[in-house]
Amino acid sequence: LKIVINEVPVPVAYGPAYEGERVRGEDIYLECGGGRTPMVEWVTSRPIDEVTDGAVEVSGPELDEVPAGSKLPLAIVVEVAGRQMQDDYEPILERQIHHLINYAQGVMHIGQRDIAWLRVSKGAVEKGFRLSHIGKLLHAKLHQDFGRIFDKMQVTLYTRTEDVLAIVAKAKEAYAARDARIEGMTDESVETFYSCLLCQSFAPSHVCVISPERTGLCGSYNWMDCKASFDINPIGPNQPVSKGQTLDPRLGQWKGVNEYVFKASRGNVDHYNFYSIISDPMTACGCMECISAILPLCNGVMTVNREYTDMTPCGMKFTTLAGTIGGGVTTPGFVGHSKYNITQRKFLAAEEGIKRLVWMPRSLKEEIADLFNERANEIGIPDLLNRVADETVGTTEEAILSFLTEMNHPALSLDPLL
Ligand code: SF4
Ligand code: ZN
Repeated sequence: LKIVINEVPVPVAYGPAYEGERVRGEDIYLECGGGRTPMVEWVTSRPIDEVTDGAVEVSGPELDEVPAGSKLPLAIVVEVAGRQMQDDYEPILERQIHHLINYAQGVMHIGQRDIAWLRVSKGAVEKGFRLSHIGKLLHAKLHQDFGRIFDKMQVTLYTRTEDVLAIVAKAKEAYAARDARIEGMTDESVETFYSCLLCQSFAPSHVCVISPERTGLCGSYNWMDCKASFDINPIGPNQPVSKGQTLDPRLGQWKGVNEYVFKASRGNVDHYNFYSIISDPMTACGCMECISAILPLCNGVMTVNREYTDMTPCGMKFTTLAGTIGGGVTTPGFVGHSKYNITQRKFLAAEEGIKRLVWMPRSLKEEIADLFNERANEIGIPDLLNRVADETVGTTEEAILSFLTEMNHPALSLDPLL
């Protein structure tokens, strides 16, 4: 790999060569997020006179004010302003944070939105790396790559719990508003989907194809975001994909999509289905917000979100599941997806959608309850969410089966899953 050192004002080496680098165990100086502390990343636009270009502020303890091995909450708030800037561009800038931070040697970044995860190594801190450098590198790189759409940018890094939690709440409102922009759009209503190839640096054969009813598995990009990204950068990672002939409307397979995936995966994947978990489901990289897995004994499907780190009824924890399916290949019986996708009407449509859903962590149930209940109403089972088991019922198939039977869960009377 060629190491490109751009003019990025950080005291460590910087470039794509360091993107896949891990920071582990004894080598960790600081850890934020990853389920250990709250962490959030949020790009938002402001009026031009409220932004000081290049300003970087750390509000709360900085790296040299905490001992090695510390954990801190962290909110990275990027405020941008400019005549060309639109709200639609916020998610695109925000999704760059992941790889731009990862480019710094000795700094590891995983995830996005309010499930981000950061580790800074002792070596990086010794060389002088501080949290403020995250702001400086984002300013330098986003200006370099997206300077056309904004004029000014400032970054604030918050490391006090109460500040971080307040920003999580605000950012969640923004995420919900972004997700809602595609409400009501259907896959049938457009001729063009969009690709996302941002994750190929980690999972070289992985190709996300994003339709109105299937947002990106990381939850960061929906169809609208990809369209905006293509408008900003026509040779960038989000390209229009013409659906072409519909090969299977039930599974969600199109000739144009297959052809694109074949090319973009360099011949590794020649087709996948948008709406099935059993039959050649979409491939996954490592970024998925949730993973669904079949539970044969319950004739159903479970789904687990990244924040839930305990055992699940499929016999694997999230991290093991992610390691199993996250290599850019199709894994029948498992599929990665966003949280929002659970409440999109085409979710697992080939297997009867949310009627199959028999287990979810309690926190995920609470988080998606409003939209889930709307969908449940539409399909005539308004109390479906109450019939879905969670960890308080059990974390094995055997343990949840009696609950499902007692609750008369619809999955038990559907066609056999296998
Ligand atoms: Fe793009 Fe998919 Fe990666 Fe999200 S997971 S950044 S949609 S390639
Ligand atoms: Zn990814």
